[in-house]
Amino acid sequence: MHYSHLLIPTLKEVPAEAEAQSHILLFRAGMIRKLASGIYDYLPLGLRVLRKVEAIVRQEMNRAGAQEVLLPAVQPAELWQESGRWQIYGKELLRFQDRHGRDCCFGPTHEEVITDLVRREVHSYRQLPLNLYQIQVKFRDEIRPRFGLIRGREFIMKDAYSFDIDEAGAEHTYRGMYEAYSRIFRRCGLTFKAVEADTGPIGGSFSHEFMVLAETGEDFLASCLSCDYAANLEKAEVPAMEGGSGPSPEGAPNLVATPGVRTVEEVAAFLMVQPEDIVKTLIYETDLGPVAVLIRGDHEVNEVKVRNLLGVTELLLAGPDRVRELTGAEVGFAGPQGLSIPVYADQAVAALPAMVTGANQTGYHLTGVHPERDLHFAKVADLRQVTEQDPCPRCGGALTILKGIEVGHVFKLGFKYSKALNAKFLDADGEEQFIFMGCYGIGVSRIVAAAIEQGHDADGIIWPLPLAPFQVGLVPINTNDEKTRETAQRLHDEFEAAGLEVLLDDRDERPGVKFKDMDLLGLPLRVVVGPKTLAKNQAEVRQRRSRDVSLVDLDRLLPYVKDLIDQGTP
Ligand code: ATP
Ligand code: MG
Repeated sequence: MHYSHLLIPTLKEVPAEAEAQSHILLFRAGMIRKLASGIYDYLPLGLRVLRKVEAIVRQEMNRAGAQEVLLPAVQPAELWQESGRWQIYGKELLRFQDRHGRDCCFGPTHEEVITDLVRREVHSYRQLPLNLYQIQVKFRDEIRPRFGLIRGREFIMKDAYSFDIDEAGAEHTYRGMYEAYSRIFRRCGLTFKAVEADTGPIGGSFSHEFMVLAETGEDFLASCLSCDYAANLEKAEVPAMEGGSGPSPEGAPNLVATPGVRTVEEVAAFLMVQPEDIVKTLIYETDLGPVAVLIRGDHEVNEVKVRNLLGVTELLLAGPDRVRELTGAEVGFAGPQGLSIPVYADQAVAALPAMVTGANQTGYHLTGVHPERDLHFAKVADLRQVTEQDPCPRCGGALTILKGIEVGHVFKLGFKYSKALNAKFLDADGEEQFIFMGCYGIGVSRIVAAAIEQGHDADGIIWPLPLAPFQVGLVPINTNDEKTRETAQRLHDEFEAAGLEVLLDDRDERPGVKFKDMDLLGLPLRVVVGPKTLAKNQAEVRQRRSRDVSLVDLDRLLPYVKDLIDQGTP
């Protein structure tokens, strides 16, 4: 392929709102352009990378026994009303009406559509198990689209849905998908971790997320340094605490004036205590009404755990007016004593022998509060986020907290959609049963960006070989020199004939410009031909990642380059 024939509008400037390296570099390398917030054009090189990801995903899904389908992007509201999600899916669901005034949406996911297809076409256990997938455009009207392809509004997903006769069958399918996903991300050249993920308040289901480790990741994960335990921070458990809070301190709690002293740090400094002796009282609004959650001053609440404990979907910190109404005090002085709303305590709070809390009186705190003597809890549970100071809940080893980009998600769904949409089959005894489902997503376009988050330097992208838009960039450094031009063209033709993907920079540009662009594009190998090396019948081969340079005889060049590629070296 000739550079001059392709639309590769490289840029020096960084786009104004781009924060993530993948966003900056995809833009500067002329691989994507923004059309609107979270909506992008894929230019020829960007599309080549996307197609490579798709090809790997397709091969591994097929190998795992899944069948490819293509479902509509536009979906009628009726199916979503049947599943109940028309009401509960938030503003991410892009809703609109057709010319007849019928409600529709642009699919953010396809559980309803696929379950509808299967309930109409599958009737017997003989037709099961079935695993159907597609690679398709999704739309989610994200509140904060950012990082370019990492969190777009329109993006490309591979989504698969499995249908089994029972839970054992579903678990077998789940394991098959888990393994296929591991192969896919390995083949894409990514450094990743599979972590246990939250499944919401419904018990019985389980789920893993595949995280590409990167600083720009929006997810936090806790990972054990000794065993293979790894979990999304939302899900990571704090080991159960044994024993109670010990004897109560002498006398009743003391009311202490703390004027203008609100935050944990301020209270700690003012009362000369440690943050872990202070208890934060957080007031939340939920579907079940307001609640208070108690967390030690040095800990962070885990709202997913709170939501799951209460079985609610809505959980929002109450505003200042509501806090005043419920506690009788300004924000910063709320405490558990005397509240008329249910109080949920983290287990570390219930274990404190004496704590400082707000006094529900502006400008005052209570000291020497004892959990059993002075407080009443609706429930004590693990409600906080784990930290690196906590032991692994499996083996007691040390935990480390990492950042990750979620590129895949496998989920044992159970009967949620088959029951809502009445998808049944007749079992071997002629009995009607609901189909046991699973769903499995991969962020195909997100992978393109995640690969760059893991592979770049100051000069540009460093593609993993399997995703690179071309394997080799061929750079003649003086296109006015006939021998250079002809040799480059001949090498290009030979490389292509040998099945290599080669981009010949045939532009009449200075070598510096061409080298800069090649580095920016991130092709794994660069082959330079010019009068100087040609005089010795040689060309220069440079590896993008290691920057290793070798001079290679022209007649050995093709096998040399092919060897590097076959070994996956660059
Ligand atoms: P996130 O937590 O990042 O919003 P999600 O958990 O809502 O993602 P899923 O419903 O699990 O996403 O979708 C399957 C996969 O699709 C995700 O693992 C992710 O790789 C990808 N994906 C989800 N939302 C986006 C988006 N806005 N832009 C690009 N890829 C996305
Ligand atoms: Mg997910």
